[in-house]
Amino acid sequence: MNTTLQDLGITAGDVFLEISYLLAAVFFVIGLKLMSHPESARKGNFYAAGGMGLAMVTTLFLHRDASGAHIGMINIVVIVVAIAVGGIFGTIVARRVKMTAMPQLVSFFNATGGAASALVALMEYSNPDNTSALVTLLGLIIGTIAFSGSMIAYGKLDGKIGDIFAGWVKYFNLLMIGIIVALTVYMLAFDHSPEMQTTLSYILLTLALIYGIMFVMPIGGADMPVVISLLNSLTGIAAAMAGFIYGNQAMILGGIFVGSAGSILTLLMCKAMNRSLINVIVGSFGGGGAGVDKEQGNIKEITLSDAAVLLSYSQKVVIVPGYGLAVAQAQHACNDLVKLLESKGVEVKFAIHPVAGRMPGHMNVLLAEADVPYTKLVEMDNINPDMPNTDVTVVIGANDVVNPASYDDPSSPIYGMPIINAHESKNIIVMKRGMGKGYAGIENFLFFNEKTRMLFGHAKDTLQALVGEIKEL
Ligand code: NDP
Repeated sequence: MNTTLQDLGITAGDVFLEISYLLAAVFFVIGLKLMSHPESARKGNFYAAGGMGLAMVTTLFLHRDASGAHIGMINIVVIVVAIAVGGIFGTIVARRVKMTAMPQLVSFFNATGGAASALVALMEYSNPDNTSALVTLLGLIIGTIAFSGSMIAYGKLDGKIGDIFAGWVKYFNLLMIGIIVALTVYMLAFDHSPEMQTTLSYILLTLALIYGIMFVMPIGGADMPVVISLLNSLTGIAAAMAGFIYGNQAMILGGIFVGSAGSILTLLMCKAMNRSLINVIVGSFGGGGAGVDKEQGNIKEITLSDAAVLLSYSQKVVIVPGYGLAVAQAQHACNDLVKLLESKGVEVKFAIHPVAGRMPGHMNVLLAEADVPYTKLVEMDNINPDMPNTDVTVVIGANDVVNPASYDDPSSPIYGMPIINAHESKNIIVMKRGMGKGYAGIENFLFFNEKTRMLFGHAKDTLQALVGEIKEL
C-alpha cells in the first residue's frame, strides 16, 4: 500500500514552507558571497533581505504548531503591527544615520536581535511543550548578553558612556560567569515548580544582563571593533537557539550564518589588532586613555605649495586613509588628488588598515563611494613591504593605524597591533586638523618623526586647496 503525504498529515502548505526555507537559505548564501566584495555588497544585502522576507511571509502563513494550528494567523494583528512599527522605525533610523555613526547603529540593531532571541527563550522556558530546556537557557543567556553588551557598545561608540578600567572588573566578570553556569546547571538538573521556573529564569536573565554590561564596560580604544563583531556573532547564535526551540530551519540557518560570519570576523579582527580573543572576553585590555605621553620632540609643518611640489615630483605615493577622512567627507577631494597626480605620471595607491575608521571595511566603502577603483586599494600586509620604496606617504585623518608605538612602546595600549608602516617611507605628510588624538587616545610617535611634516586643516579643505595648488604648478 502506498503511503501518501496526506496519510502522514503533511499538507501542500508544509511542503511549500520547507521549500521556501531552502530557497531562503540559498538566498542567504548568495547574499553573503556577494557581500564579500564592496562592488556587489549592496546586491548581496538585497538577496539576504529577500531570503529573510520570504521566510517571514511563509512562516506567518504556513507554519503550524504540534496541534496543526496556523499560529501566525492566530496573532496576525499583533504581528502585523509589530512588523509595521519595527519596519518604520528601522527605515527612518537607517536613512537618517550618518556614515560615521554606522557602527553605533549596527550595535543598536544587534542589541534588538539579541533581545528578541532572549525574549523568545524567556517565554518558551516555562512552556510545558518545550522539550529543549538546555537550548532555551543558552538562548536566554547568550541573547541577553548580546543585548546588554551591544547597548553598552552603542553608548560607548556614541560617546554617551565612558569606560571602567578598574582591575576588579576582570574578577567580577569571572565570578559572574561562574554563577551563571552554576545556576543553569541547577535549573537543568532538578525539577522545579512552574513558579520557581519563572523566578529562576528571571534571575538568570538579570545575571546575564549584568554580565553583558560589565563585559563591555572595560573595553575601550582599539579593542572595540572586536567586541562588536563578537556580540554580533552572539546574536546569531542566540537566534539559532531560538530557531531550535521552534524547530524553524530558516531561523536556525540565518542564526548560524550570522554567528559564523561574526566569529570569523572576530578572529580576523583579533589578528589585525594582535589581541587574543581571551583578552577581549576577560575584558581588561585596550584602554582608551591609557597611553603614556612622552616628550616627543618637535613637529614640523609643510606649506601647501611645498606639499604640491613634493607630491608632483614623486614616483610612488601611498595614501593612508583613516577615520578623519570619513568625518571630513573628503573622499571625493581625495580621488581628485589621485587622478591629478596620476595624470602627472605618479603611481598612487591606498594602504588599507583592517580597522581604519570605525567599522570593518569603513575605508573600502568610503572610497568606493568616490569611485576609487578597487585595484588601488592595497591591504596592509601587501603594502607594508613596499613602504621603504615609497617617496611620500600621505596620512589623511588616520592616527592609531600608523602609530609606531605599536612597535616601540610596550606600555602602549596598542603595543603589538599591526600598523601601516608609514614611518618607513622616504617622506610623510600628515593631514589632520591639529594635534588631536585618535580613537585609542594616545600620542603618535609618527608626528614627531624626522621625515614627517604636518599639513594642518580640515581634510576636505586641505585636499581641495592642494589640488588647486598642484594644478597651478
Ligand atoms: P583615529 O581615530 O586613530 O584618528 C583619526 C584622526 O582623524 C584623529 O587623530 C583626528 O585628528 C583626525 N581628524 C578628525 N576629523 C578630521 C577632519 N575633519 N579632517 C582631518 N582630520 C581629522 O583613526 P584611524 O582610522 O587611524 O584608526 C581607527 C581607530 O578606531 C583604531 O584605534 C581602531 O581600533 C578604532 N576603531 C575601529 C573600528 C573599526 O571597526 N574599524 C571600530 C571602532 C573603533 P585631529 O582631531 O587633530 O583632526
